[in-house]
Amino acid sequence: MVIPLTLTCWLLGSAQEVERGEKGSGILLANPTYEGPQPFDVLHYKLDLTLPLVDNQLYGSSEITMRLKQATDSVWLNAVGLQLDSVKIGNTPVAVQVDSAAERITVLLPAPGNAGDTLVLRIAYSRIQNYPRYGRHGYYFFLDTLGIPANLGYTFSEPSDARNWMPCYDEPWEKATAEMHLTVPDGFLAASNGVLTGTTLNGDGTTTWHWLEQDKITTYLMCITASRFTVSSLPYITSSNDTIPIQYYVWPEDSAECAAYLPTARDMVAEYSRLFGEYPFRKYGMTAVVPFGPLGMEHQSITTLNRFFKTSRWVVSHELAHQWWGDLVTCGTWPDVWLNEGFATYSEALWMEHVGGFPALRSYMKDTLTQFQFASWQGAVYDPVGQGFNLFDRVVYSKGAWVLHMLRGILGDSLFFQSLGVYRAGFAEKSVITSEFQEVVDSVAGMNTDWFFNQWIFSPGWPRIATGWTWSADTLEYTVNQLPLGGWPVYRLPVTIRAYTPGTFTDFRVVDSMDVQTFRLPLTQMPDSVILDPDYWVLKQFVPPPLSVGEWGRTPLRFSLDQNYPNPFNPMTNIEFRIAKFGFVTLKVYDLLGQEVATLANEKMNPGSYNVTWNATESASGVYLYRLTAGNFTETKRMLLLK
Ligand SMILES: [Zn+2]
Repeated sequence: MVIPLTLTCWLLGSAQEVERGEKGSGILLANPTYEGPQPFDVLHYKLDLTLPLVDNQLYGSSEITMRLKQATDSVWLNAVGLQLDSVKIGNTPVAVQVDSAAERITVLLPAPGNAGDTLVLRIAYSRIQNYPRYGRHGYYFFLDTLGIPANLGYTFSEPSDARNWMPCYDEPWEKATAEMHLTVPDGFLAASNGVLTGTTLNGDGTTTWHWLEQDKITTYLMCITASRFTVSSLPYITSSNDTIPIQYYVWPEDSAECAAYLPTARDMVAEYSRLFGEYPFRKYGMTAVVPFGPLGMEHQSITTLNRFFKTSRWVVSHELAHQWWGDLVTCGTWPDVWLNEGFATYSEALWMEHVGGFPALRSYMKDTLTQFQFASWQGAVYDPVGQGFNLFDRVVYSKGAWVLHMLRGILGDSLFFQSLGVYRAGFAEKSVITSEFQEVVDSVAGMNTDWFFNQWIFSPGWPRIATGWTWSADTLEYTVNQLPLGGWPVYRLPVTIRAYTPGTFTDFRVVDSMDVQTFRLPLTQMPDSVILDPDYWVLKQFVPPPLSVGEWGRTPLRFSLDQNYPNPFNPMTNIEFRIAKFGFVTLKVYDLLGQEVATLANEKMNPGSYNVTWNATESASGVYLYRLTAGNFTETKRMLLLK
């Protein structure tokens, strides 16, 4: 899913070499797919649901087919806030133990079951109105009196709210096929997963919509979205000449805008199919509703979009990418959620790269997925909740995306996309945990990436780096100083040092792995400037060098002031500058009347590269000037604050 933010892609020449995984073809892993502790597999959910769409009631009868993996005298499901009217196995009523705190019901089997037995549970139920559950209800209903075009009912279940509208084994590692028969008032359209197999006019003022999801699905991705929708559709032709409809289910007021966006959505499907293997499901639908908490939710084959972001390229691309990463291949446990969100977020960048080339990728990584987010990246990518963070913390999304970008940087395009192909093939219609993804990478790339996953996924923080250099006697001495905060690792960073000399540049590939490390590099000409990681393949934050370290007296040759980034900006922007000689430095911001608005530096500084952030929360939109003064050096640049 995409959650709201407080603040708010070189060409892939090798992508043709991507191994195209087909669903179900497996790779051999020591531990294929996390299966959970339950003694059964759910095979199929069949739901008959009636949505009156005048209040938030929902009446259901469900048929859950499961196969026992081992002998047992009971099975269990998750259910909460549901009035269970009857529970049967086959046609035999059975006893049920309810554990409200665990949101679980245990179904006692009439006779002990054996491995291989197939059971069909039949449950008739309705929702308990206003059941208190910390504001999360699974099923949400809104009247048109709210200012929306029609009454609206939808489900939104991630991570564990499907149990509040259907009894189910509500764990991300469990997948089954599904069908939904959704009865709504005539004139309403009830959208769901899979393909529409028909509609029945019941003759009593209601219509039943029949949906069949033949591709395995986990419960948090199952969904209903119902209102007075119209449908726009455009065919996408797969590499094997199948036709997949790309669709919007939206209110008539939104239809023209969405229909006009369908060709772009289809291009996204084509591009992701090129990168990740063919689109995995039988349709791709998008509904657009409001009110809706997140910006989008990747229900399998039927994304729910927040109406305000219904044609937003980063939300649409993010949710679409989830169809591969999250839906076809699903995080096996919630601590592994970065396997959904980091992948979908990096896919945003891949779409930007497709549209704008490598500069667009670079800019997306640097500006969108780095700036302003360091503060919210205190935790490790893995298991945010276990560290006291929100499951959908930005660290999971943006740092997770950076992990994939860095992995691509280390492996190169060919091996990186080949890894994704093997990963898809091995885990299609299954669930996966982090170590299994790493196992795929290691086997495809032929290397051990423990160091990489340990520092980037399982450790908190990011590299805080100060740099300095000097040149003499045909040698460039470049020092990288890592300044980790408490508990953070000193990172191993394969990285490029680029030295610019008049008319050209020279790249040096090094591995930085110490708190202070000096690289002695052969360079026959004195450089104008030297930059660490010029193409942004490494997540890092440049910080001023510590004042006490004498070796920072090595002198970069020039004072310089860079253009701020991003620009335009709101409300924060970064300004990089370099100091050549120890001395008093000021960096101030002025409005167009010459009034000083902010002081970003006003102190004695050692030679080095610096990066400061201006938070313009207090300032009005407009053009501002920023001026660096150091000794005899002074330079002024303009920037644009757009609120
Ligand atoms: Zn997402």
